[in-house]
Amino acid sequence: MTSFPTHSCAVQPTLPFITPPHTNESLFLPRRSRQVPPEAWQIFPTKIPAHWHGFAKDKGFEIVRRVRDKNHIVLECQTCGGLTAHKVYTLRSAQPECAACHYDRINETAKAAGLIFLGYHPTNRHQGFFRAPCGHEILRQFGFVERCAKEDATPRCETCHAAKEQEEAEARGWELIGPDPQNDPNYRLYRHDCGHEQRVARVNMQTGRFCCEDCGEGWSSAPSYIYAMRFLFPDGTQVVKLGFSRDPQSRLHYQLKRSTEAGSTETKNSETNSSEVDGQVLCQVPMQSGHLALCVEKRLHAEIKRTYPDAALPVERFETWLRVKSEIYVAELEPVILAMLTRLHGDAHDLG
Ligand SMILES: [Zn+2]
Ligand SMILES: [Zn+2]
Ligand SMILES: [Zn+2]
Repeated sequence: MTSFPTHSCAVQPTLPFITPPHTNESLFLPRRSRQVPPEAWQIFPTKIPAHWHGFAKDKGFEIVRRVRDKNHIVLECQTCGGLTAHKVYTLRSAQPECAACHYDRINETAKAAGLIFLGYHPTNRHQGFFRAPCGHEILRQFGFVERCAKEDATPRCETCHAAKEQEEAEARGWELIGPDPQNDPNYRLYRHDCGHEQRVARVNMQTGRFCCEDCGEGWSSAPSYIYAMRFLFPDGTQVVKLGFSRDPQSRLHYQLKRSTEAGSTETKNSETNSSEVDGQVLCQVPMQSGHLALCVEKRLHAEIKRTYPDAALPVERFETWLRVKSEIYVAELEPVILAMLTRLHGDAHDLG
């Protein structure tokens, strides 16, 4: 199986601390010093000038010892007790950061995001390695993980995601073979059972709304359904939708309901995050082809428009919840639509 997108796994996570020789303590190092080998952090046996202790105390640390060379010291954080090696210059001229506290914060944020922090990226200071709940390793920006911790985003594993996309394709007789050759992030390259390769939008692969350009097998020639669906919005509004689809369940789950998953920027307030649109297929009538279904659907909408001109809801009433632009009706029309579909079912039966 092709797994993509991928990140380079050659880069190894770096931990922020070392164990200096002949000790069993964890000595944290500032990011820039992490390339320096552990052997370099030997005690530097020289007296600590008395006034340095004052600097350290003012900044929340205590000087433990001099280390490596005349320019370095080990500071003990008065908050967490962690040891961080710093330049004397940093202590004198700036606020040294406790690398242990920083590491704790990242661990906690990762935990809140459902991840396990594995270490820093060796060169990109904005990125770290994390273990996803599925067990795979993922590389992410710290800012992104913070948003995940606040439930503003969702960490998604590329490996699992690629497997899921492959399954979706296989379910329709296609094989996922790679990313879009034209670099559209919404498209992928697939190979049909007939051998033909073609770029298809992933959403169309999920819903089956496309044809093989070579052998012609696809949604317009395949059987389809006219359906009625009921939706209940989190604000209590109930509506009914009439439409056609080769696969009404898939249309309901993948296409119609706006995602309120974390990470979506489409939700308008925090309330919408906690509530899902409730939807169900009430009835579906099989049609011989997508083309026939399309024609029948148009006829039914025209009939409703003539008989119940006020039944269609304005788009502002449902655009927050549904990914459609029109043809959503008030709940009162539900029995009318169901009666239409019952009649249609009878007709389809008579013909068949
Ligand atoms: Zn600390
Ligand atoms: Zn995974
Ligand atoms: Zn084909």
